Amino acid sequence: MKRKVLVSGASIAGPALAYWLHRHGFEVTVVEKADAIRSGGYPIDIRGTALDVVRRMGVLPQLREAHVDTRKITFLHADGKPVHAMRPETLTGGVDGRDLEVRRQDLAYILYGTVRDDVEFLFSDSIATLHDHDGGVDVTFDSGTRRTFDLVVGADGIHSNTRRLAFGPEEDYHHYLGCSFAGFSMANELGLSREGLCWNTPGRNAVLYGIKDSDDVLAIMTFYQEEPPLRAFRDPRAQCDLVASVFADDQWEIPRLLAAMRTADDLFFDVGGQIHMPQWSNGRVALVGDAAYAPSFFSGQGTSIALVGAYLLAGELATRPDHTAAFAAYDEAARKFVESNQALAFSGRASLLPRTAEDLALRNQALLGPSLPSGDEGRAVNSSLRLPDYP
Ligand SMILES: Cc1cc2nc3c(=O)[nH]c(=O)nc-3n(C[C@H](O)[C@H](O)[C@H](O)COP(=O)(O)OP(=O)(O)OC[C@H]3O[C@@H](n4cnc5c(N)ncnc54)[C@H](O)[C@@H]3O)c2cc1C
Repeated sequence: MKRKVLVSGASIAGPALAYWLHRHGFEVTVVEKADAIRSGGYPIDIRGTALDVVRRMGVLPQLREAHVDTRKITFLHADGKPVHAMRPETLTGGVDGRDLEVRRQDLAYILYGTVRDDVEFLFSDSIATLHDHDGGVDVTFDSGTRRTFDLVVGADGIHSNTRRLAFGPEEDYHHYLGCSFAGFSMANELGLSREGLCWNTPGRNAVLYGIKDSDDVLAIMTFYQEEPPLRAFRDPRAQCDLVASVFADDQWEIPRLLAAMRTADDLFFDVGGQIHMPQWSNGRVALVGDAAYAPSFFSGQGTSIALVGAYLLAGELATRPDHTAAFAAYDEAARKFVESNQALAFSGRASLLPRTAEDLALRNQALLGPSLPSGDEGRAVNSSLRLPDYP
């Protein structure tokens, strides 16, 4: 009989895992709390080992078509004058012409398309309780439905519900990176096309991102905060007030960004953080992607390690009938790669968000060199794992 797996979350890790599990002969159900594949999100990168995963899934041509092909990032002084312009690869350690940069929603739809006819999707629902026993995992959904699965995998993001149910509260695993950010879209009044602007003052940055030839740009404002601003999480107005107080000066386009933030209908606010766990499974429940090892956007590798993790987890489950052995093998196969990619967040943060005036001056000096430390480090790490072949 086919082993039944419930996957929670249908963004990147969830559908990728569902694809590989289905291909290895599992019966897969995916539950997603949104009522459809969620739209939104700025471009995410697929590079290094993860390119091999999407090639093996057969979606490389579709992804090449969706590639947004950003050609230039210009770093700006506080007054808006350019420090230096560069290819994005210099910052990220990517390879021009090979790496992919795709809107998150496009990637999610493409991955969903690979399994939508083969896998059961339950939208507008979520796992309410999990009861793990010798014979399987009894699951109650928010909708009231009860079912039993052989295994459950949480692919439900950095604030994972499955992790909370099976491993305990987020505070036990979340590592705050000392900063918060707000992202939103606004009118492309500067006429940016396939390019980004990165404005910095010590401890603050504001990025404007013109994706392809869109009428909108994505704005992301990031800033240091000693303590995570927990109060702001409950209240979008408090989020806007906090960002406005941190960026309370009249420099460059900042006043226009703040005004656009207050009226944006897609405001997204979160802290920069990572998930670190001593193990990614507990009994018959495992985690993949951001739920298990979110590296933060500073690493630029969240999507890539989610794709690689999904491939490895499904492959190990397929080759080992005992799930405990399979989960241990998944950990063994992925951990070094995952942790070295998570570590990229620190050089990424130093490049994107220098904290002091001295750090900023050093970063600006480094921009004029052949590459940035984050780029050199990233290049070695993002392809440091060779995918095993599973039957
Ligand atoms: C709307 C959105 C926008 C994003 N924007 C960006 C971005 O712009 N840039 C970037 O680098 N990364 C972004 N990310 C994160 C990025 O997708 C991940 O870092 C990476 O791709 C790993 O993906 P993941 O599938 O592990 O997690 P995620 O992409 O976070 O997906 C988690 C999925 O689980 C679902 N989910 C959450 N809770 C439950 C629940 N209780 N029950 C069922 N399903 C649940 C969510 O709706 C989501 O579909 C975004 C994620 C989302 C969901």
